[in-house]
Amino acid sequence: MNETREDRIRELLYEEPAFRVRQALAAIFSDSTLEWAKATALSKPLRDRLAAEVPWNTLSLVAVFPSVKGDTWKALFQTFDGERMETVLMKNSRGQLTVCVSTQIGCAMACTFCATGKMGFSRNLSADEIVDQVRFFREYVATRGDISGEVTNIVFMGMGEPLGNYEGTKAALGIFIQQMGIGPTRITVSTVGLIPMLTRLLDDKEWPPVRLAVSLHSADPKTRRDLMPTSYDGFLEKLAEWTQSYFQKFSEKRRHLTFEYIMLARVNDTDMHADALIRFARRTGKVRINLIPYNITEGGFSKSDEETIDRFQSRLKAASVITTRRRTMGDDIAAACGQLALKNAKSR
Ligand code: SAH
Repeated sequence: MNETREDRIRELLYEEPAFRVRQALAAIFSDSTLEWAKATALSKPLRDRLAAEVPWNTLSLVAVFPSVKGDTWKALFQTFDGERMETVLMKNSRGQLTVCVSTQIGCAMACTFCATGKMGFSRNLSADEIVDQVRFFREYVATRGDISGEVTNIVFMGMGEPLGNYEGTKAALGIFIQQMGIGPTRITVSTVGLIPMLTRLLDDKEWPPVRLAVSLHSADPKTRRDLMPTSYDGFLEKLAEWTQSYFQKFSEKRRHLTFEYIMLARVNDTDMHADALIRFARRTGKVRINLIPYNITEGGFSKSDEETIDRFQSRLKAASVITTRRRTMGDDIAAACGQLALKNAKSR
């Protein structure tokens, strides 16, 4: 289960010298090689064997949608079993390129404000399928003249719940970090906050020191439960305890942790909600809150206006809670956070 191409290559080449294995891994994961046949550092028989046993690519591209502003691209892929899934490339104001990967087809978390949550859940993506989303965009950027720069950052904020696919996510992280040269501090895994999985990663020696983002969205128990069906009585206490353990275990510098907070008009943006958030932050220690503009999808929510967000942020700031604000990208192509959903996920 969850065998990756890296595992397969190591198995196939177990009798070869170590440098051969490195060459094969470099060919598929880090060089700008396009297929096994072109991996000429390897002998022809070896290339043929690899080509027969290790799929170069697990995703077929259906289409790429560029945003009008020219800072976001959304790729629609089809998987071997006819499922469809989306990945987003974003260029920030500093020109850095970030790929937003999906970890599942659909999502079981059913958050009421999220388009993916409305689709239901089909299956986990394999580590190879997660990795190939980034390989695709790396290649796309390299072959098109009009996108400068290289993919330097990855966020696990596409379709699905990364910790609901713990093994696939962990294996993909290993390949990004060890084979593709993307440092762990340039990777952010976003989670709805599955406490058993968050607890598991605290003690998992193989879980890499990537950044974590927890989708909080409300520190008021009732509001959170209404928004996110995965919440339950006592959830926020458990999350606060987990956060304390996290900070005890890892120095804050090495293991960046933020709480995401979508601003939903009149739902979670009132003074009462700000105060609940301040109390939560006091319990957990020095946390960062990332205020996120809501991107419209079905669900009946509207976004908080700028003045309300300013007011909310000032209230937090006055209580010494650190906040940052995220800007919306790609909403014209339904590529913004929470907008990834397919009317018909299966193509057949
Ligand atoms: N399952 C993971 C990753 C999902 S999406 C998680 O829950 O964190 C990444 C972020 O986008 C999450 O914080 C999610 O709550 C948020 N999001 C979902 N729908 C959104 C929307 N319509 N507008 C803005 N952010 C949204």
